[in-house]
Amino acid sequence: MGRHHALTADERAARKGRRRVLEVLIVLLLAAASLVLGFSSQEAPTRGAGPGGGATAAAAPGPVAVDPAAFPAGGCVRLAPSGPGPAATVVLDAGHGGPDPGSEGTTADGDVRREKDLTLAVARSAAERLRARGTTVVLTRSTDELGTPLADDAVQDGALTTDASQLDLLGRVRCANVARADALVSVHFNSFADAEVGGTETLYEPERPIGPRSRALAQSLQTAIRTRLAAAGHTPLDRGIADDSSGAESGGGHLVLLGPRIPGYIDEPSAMPGALVEPLFLTNPGDLAAVADPAGTDAVGEAVATGVGEYLDGAQRR
Ligand SMILES: [Zn+2]
Repeated sequence: MGRHHALTADERAARKGRRRVLEVLIVLLLAAASLVLGFSSQEAPTRGAGPGGGATAAAAPGPVAVDPAAFPAGGCVRLAPSGPGPAATVVLDAGHGGPDPGSEGTTADGDVRREKDLTLAVARSAAERLRARGTTVVLTRSTDELGTPLADDAVQDGALTTDASQLDLLGRVRCANVARADALVSVHFNSFADAEVGGTETLYEPERPIGPRSRALAQSLQTAIRTRLAAAGHTPLDRGIADDSSGAESGGGHLVLLGPRIPGYIDEPSAMPGALVEPLFLTNPGDLAAVADPAGTDAVGEAVATGVGEYLDGAQRR
């Protein structure tokens, strides 16, 4: 954790502009594709039962609050599919946010990149791609702000208190459960004191009844992330998939997002298969360079969408 100046407003505006252009292009492409293909796809005509279940390619509606009474504006929002495909709901959880920047790294140019900004960029990128393949996406936070309502004393000395951090994590789990998601993917980035330490790792909880499915999701994500980064010219160390209690962010216990019910600590655990990705180390110069610009976060977002998509396709066959 630490602090530094964020991306400039200009950079953010430019990013937003490019995203808008991309969204419009994707919608146009999907519209063209549906005209060419007609509705011969077996899923398309029978869709539309649940919330956000429409399969039309035209003008997908904007974010809708899953439970506006329980979450602040921008927190726990549902994004309808933007294209046809098998119906599923996936929660993408952008790690950290607001007063909790997470870890950070400094690029060769001396620019600082914060974990909370990169996780949100990755989640948004993955969301657009999943929506295009018919998936309903729920974001635990869609802005810089945390998606969980917290008390005024949640921030002390410029940082989120331990109690507030726990409440924030439980809020993310509640969002996933209320949304009745088929899968939960939390996006984080790693850090370590030694800058030479780097690589790709994905965590999951192996012992719950959903453990085997969480493992399949984690493996699919790990493979997709490594494949996509390699295609972009970066081959980070393969740290593999690992038990969620082995990660630095878990402090030796289960991750709140993925763990089993622990009375008084996790009273209502996540009800669906889940995994937490740590695609790269922000403290490793080579790793950071691969994700420091929008092309990098978009590549990781694409990989997350690919990993989730392949998991969902496999789950349908089972
Ligand atoms: Zn993190």
